[in-house]
Amino acid sequence: MSILVFADAPKGKIAKAAYEAVYYGKQIADKSSSTVTVLTYGDVSDSDLAALGNYGATKVLVNKNIKEDNDEQLTAMGAAAVEKEGAKVIIFSFDPLGKSLAPRLSARLQAGLVTGATELPEMDGDNFTVTKSVFSGKAFSKNAIKTEIKIISLMPNSIKPVKGGETAQVESFTPDAAEGKIKVKEMKMDSGDGIPLPEADLVVSAGRGLKGPENWGIVEDLAKALGAATACSRPVADMDWRPHHEHVGQTGIAIRPNLYIAAGISGAIQHLAGVNNSQTIVVINTDPEAPFFKAADYGVVGDAFEVLPRLTAAVKKFKA
Ligand code: FAD
Repeated sequence: MSILVFADAPKGKIAKAAYEAVYYGKQIADKSSSTVTVLTYGDVSDSDLAALGNYGATKVLVNKNIKEDNDEQLTAMGAAAVEKEGAKVIIFSFDPLGKSLAPRLSARLQAGLVTGATELPEMDGDNFTVTKSVFSGKAFSKNAIKTEIKIISLMPNSIKPVKGGETAQVESFTPDAAEGKIKVKEMKMDSGDGIPLPEADLVVSAGRGLKGPENWGIVEDLAKALGAATACSRPVADMDWRPHHEHVGQTGIAIRPNLYIAAGISGAIQHLAGVNNSQTIVVINTDPEAPFFKAADYGVVGDAFEVLPRLTAAVKKFKA
């Protein structure tokens, strides 16, 4: 039996969350005397594919004929790989691709699915109990999967992969393409040229306290000095001050960076839902009663228009 891990590789680059999923799969493999096969697609270099072995993969199946995220083709490819490998456990990352493909594959294979797992499953023979966070991070639920084939999608940044091991064996895998009801006509990347927010270790975020889009230069300056991605609260995206892909929270992206700096954001529960798993939270707000301070590791009661440029200057001085 092998454990199959689906690795996304946008623009031919293995996603950070995919390394975590491979390492997660390896931990399960070690407990069940099985091995990890990774399934991916697109123009990824052979050396990057082989290097997945450092995270626990024994074998990598790659379909270079599929270039874009076509859910229909990728689901068919996933089902073919499950059959070829006799996989009983399938791991996705809980990223946009995993959110779309895992339920499709689950329906196709009649496999139990738990999305957004945050820990390794408790394994009792063939029964898995998978923990995930619910109610915007306020509670955890334990979910039993008793079907023969089990699918788990892993919340990004839940585990830290440790490198080691050999390089993986890379095999071309080109099952018959699915009869296409879906045709991808065009892919438009909306995340600009900066660091993609879900992958970022450092994030500088701002809210309505910044007063208007013309003031975002001080946010971008700090982000640039730190090598961080930028994010924002929902009203900021709704008012078109910033693009929607920067919106974090319950209805936006959930992130878990090492450092989250929030300037001029009140800290509403819906915002916290997307950021409260950050390792370290720094809050800058003029109002000492702002709810965000309760979730902060470090708080600065002050004006973002003064504090952000001073932080930028300090970072630049430190790095010089
Ligand atoms: P405000 O609440 O207006 O806060 C601005 C803050 O800036 C204040 O605390 C103020 O003291 C401070 N400030 C003002 N001037 C300065 C200054 N010069 N320097 C420093 N600080 C200053 N919100 C999200 O963010 N993400 C979501 O996913 C989300 N989903 C939602 C889903 C639902 C169903 C609902 C009902 C709401 C959702 N919201 C979400 C909205 C959320 O409830 C809040 O309204 C929103 O987060 C507030 O955004 P804000 O903190 O930028 O603005």
